[in-house]
Amino acid sequence: MDLTGDILAEAERTGSEDVDQCIRQTTELIWQTCRDAGVERPLGVGLCLPGVIDRAEGVVKKAVHLSWRDVPIAPKLRESLQGIPVVLENASNCAAFAEEWYAGGGSVGDLLYLRISHAVGSGLILGGRLLTRTVAGGTEIGHMVIEPGGPICRCGRRGCLEALVSELLAEGARDALPQGGVVELQERTARAAAEGDKDALERVIGIARYCGTAVANVVNLTGVRHVVVESPLLMIDAFLDVVRHSVQSEVLPGEGDAVHVRASRWGGRSPAIGGACLVAYQSLSPEHVFESVVELKGLGA
Ligand SMILES: [Zn+2]
Repeated sequence: MDLTGDILAEAERTGSEDVDQCIRQTTELIWQTCRDAGVERPLGVGLCLPGVIDRAEGVVKKAVHLSWRDVPIAPKLRESLQGIPVVLENASNCAAFAEEWYAGGGSVGDLLYLRISHAVGSGLILGGRLLTRTVAGGTEIGHMVIEPGGPICRCGRRGCLEALVSELLAEGARDALPQGGVVELQERTARAAAEGDKDALERVIGIARYCGTAVANVVNLTGVRHVVVESPLLMIDAFLDVVRHSVQSEVLPGEGDAVHVRASRWGGRSPAIGGACLVAYQSLSPEHVFESVVELKGLGA
């Protein structure tokens, strides 16, 4: 992506879970994509991962579907890329940032991005700024308790949104979890619902209701007005309709009409696009420009 937001080249690969091998594969992919885009050396690389990160140190503390723990992925990749800066951010936060970056007419100011992928995550923008914590994932809507005493969640508690979504998806899984995990289960469920499977459609609607309740809670807490949803279940129109209806009926009286719920522009590509947007944003920020001038003029300590 260039600094105007135009996407110059894209590529996608499935990588190894072995960290060193993954770094090698990612490095090759980045250089190949640069060659495809006619770029000799990028300003930076945005690296987005689902899970808990330490963005200041560029460390993945815990990844959602990888066995990585305390992996200094950003410094390692930067070294492999001969010093090109690497920005590490949570995938849901990146996706939210992409929607904000591309909003027509500039910033929408406030936005909640609900991401139902391998896990249920969210990114929240308030007052034009991405809400971040020093060591964290996104804003973790997936671990909002929706049904006290409900199904056990992978976080160890009960009744989280993610646990309820997983339970409804798993009800339709006759075998063990497919290789594609929860994403593939969503695709299967959506396809079955589209082909007239009433049980599958009921599960899609049940998931949408839980999501709507969680989103309404965030709206009531923060006043966020723009809600963007990413999920393979969007294949079924009723999914977004039910999320929207649940949100509008569960926010404070009189506020429902002000809340806009829509599908993500890029679906599963959103985090990667958001990672590139973060690099562009940081490259254009006054702090970065000032630091660059200091470095170029040798004014640093
Ligand atoms: Zn949980």
